[in-house]
Amino acid sequence: MKAYEYSFVIKRGDGTSEVIPVEFERSIRSKSIKITPQLQKKVIRVTYPVYVLHSRAVAFLEKQKNWVAKQLEKVPEKVEIKDGAKITFLEHEYTISNIPNARRGVWFEENYIFVSGDPEFLNRRVKDFLKVEMKKYFTEKTRFYAKKIGKKFNNVSVKDTVSRWGSCASNGNISYSWRLGFAPIFVIDYIVAHEVAHLEELNHSYKFWRVVKDIYSGDVDEAQKWLSRNGLSLYSVD
Ligand SMILES: [Zn+2]
Repeated sequence: MKAYEYSFVIKRGDGTSEVIPVEFERSIRSKSIKITPQLQKKVIRVTYPVYVLHSRAVAFLEKQKNWVAKQLEKVPEKVEIKDGAKITFLEHEYTISNIPNARRGVWFEENYIFVSGDPEFLNRRVKDFLKVEMKKYFTEKTRFYAKKIGKKFNNVSVKDTVSRWGSCASNGNISYSWRLGFAPIFVIDYIVAHEVAHLEELNHSYKFWRVVKDIYSGDVDEAQKWLSRNGLSLYSVD
């Protein structure tokens, strides 16, 4: 394990713990010492002006450590993809079950996701499988919404970005976070409608939001609220 100059430890109810490192950075643009818990990346960033001594930045963090610990309570418990684990995917709960001798790859069957082969590779195989499923799912949804505004898109891809749920480039390439598969479907629909609306308006103008509201039948505020409250939990599956 890497040794950090400073780190926090989250202790779980099941006896496990997680180390959250602190990254210090001197910045020309910085005007004061600032602590930013980046909960998705699971790192605490401390930026401070060039004229401030490093030891002062550390002392500042020391003073704020109760506040930081409080922020870290928001980090959801990890759900590890392994034999016997339960995950919710597209609003359906599945139990992951390893069948080492089967030669069928990964497949859904009722409430199970069965995985053949060596348990050592199970985690990666399930993730690859879910990514492929999400790519198909997103492509279909994107087609559905694009048709509503009579626009064509180029290519749909899935990513594992931590900073955004979707993006749309000016060449019509749209990408989504595969982790949205763990979110409610009304939230997925909102993200797809949002990215598709960018095919018409490559900005967040009034006109853009009118397009979103025209094609998305759900409640935009509700979907955004869900993401800001629960977005982190989508990263807890690992
Ligand atoms: Zn946007």
